[in-house]
Amino acid sequence: MDSNLIHPVWLLLVIALLLVMLVVQRMRQQRLSRLLAQAERRGKRRADSDRDSREAILAALAQASRLLFNNSDKIVAMERALAELGEAVGADRVYVFENHRDAASGRLLASQRHEWVAAGVEPQIDNPAMQGMDYEEVIPTFRRQLERGQAVHGRIEEMPEPERALLEPQNIRSIVVVPIIMDGEFWGQIGFDDCTHGRRWTDAEINALGIAAATIGAAIRGIRAEQELATLANTDSLTGLSSRRLFLKKAKAAHRRALDQSASVALLVMDLDHFKLVNDNHGHPVGDEALRWFAQACRDSLRDEDLIGRMGGEEFAVLLQDVDHSAAVDVAEKLRQRLESAPLQTAESEIRLTVSIGVAVLHRTESDFMGLLKRADQALYRAKNGGRNRVESASAPVNGAV
Ligand code: GH3
Ligand code: MG
Ligand code: MG
Repeated sequence: MDSNLIHPVWLLLVIALLLVMLVVQRMRQQRLSRLLAQAERRGKRRADSDRDSREAILAALAQASRLLFNNSDKIVAMERALAELGEAVGADRVYVFENHRDAASGRLLASQRHEWVAAGVEPQIDNPAMQGMDYEEVIPTFRRQLERGQAVHGRIEEMPEPERALLEPQNIRSIVVVPIIMDGEFWGQIGFDDCTHGRRWTDAEINALGIAAATIGAAIRGIRAEQELATLANTDSLTGLSSRRLFLKKAKAAHRRALDQSASVALLVMDLDHFKLVNDNHGHPVGDEALRWFAQACRDSLRDEDLIGRMGGEEFAVLLQDVDHSAAVDVAEKLRQRLESAPLQTAESEIRLTVSIGVAVLHRTESDFMGLLKRADQALYRAKNGGRNRVESASAPVNGAV
């Protein structure tokens, strides 16, 4: 056999080797493309779940805004809005903290104002540690990030020590806290706790929660404005007593309760005597002081459960609960005597003030509170006509024998 010629066996071997290499190469390629496809599917699943959770949060937020801006009871609406968001995020606890400053030291503090918890999770709103929490002492790292308008998020086990010391005893595994910025100021924070999983929060979730924080901030501003308006409408700014509006509302409710429960209520309508002379002789500011002084005399003479209102000018009203006619006249008489015997001392002078009082008690036949008020007014009119500085009782209603 010619040794220069390639032996067919060698040729076969080379071809076989080439074939094996081709097959291996192809297998490698197939494996690679399988891996690539798997990675792509995983990525898509993650993107889908990111998108789903972001969409769920935004849908919950839309529902929360509807609750917050359409509901007349904003506090209840806030709790329900937090519940919507908590459920969408899959959190165990959602809460809102408001920032404020310590009056003496000026240090930045935070106090919990609203909270929602999932079933079986312990609420923290009554935990004293959640009121007046000192940022620098308790959550210094959170503070720096929140003040810059950035969210804080992650597993508690990876957090710095002061933060861990606060969050671990509450059994929190993972947290996201978003700052609430109002008028450019760091107003407070909204937080979401996960007490079951040490999960990581996705960018999509954090972005959506940022929008939630802005909406909640706007809603809180609305709540505050409403509360301030309600306080203005319900409180007399000079004396701090209930306004006529609030007095009538509460007195009507008490009157209705008394009718339903066969209990008694008595109404005192009081008007300061010759009050115009106080203003004329001592000036309007002293008149104001006298009105405040009389309001305090009423508070001092009455029980906590009695309602006192400034009905307008120098006219006041008191509703006494579970009090019969003679007890009501006693209360009125004591107040009258108190004024008569202890004049108001001002910087310049001593002012003797007297009061006339009309007393009326509830009658079963009179279902309307305004009837009681009218009879008390008629009694007051008689007290004025009878010489002032006196207590007069109302007669029974025209249609009622008792
Ligand atoms: P009478 O015994 O008949 O009740 O006489 P009066 O002077 O008290 O009654 P009148 O209704 O003539 O005058 C009420 C006065 O009360 C006049 C008004 O300027 C004064 N007054 C009402 N509201 C205020 C107030 O908020 N501050 C001050 N300083 N005076 C007030
Ligand atoms: Mg008067
Ligand atoms: Mg008057």
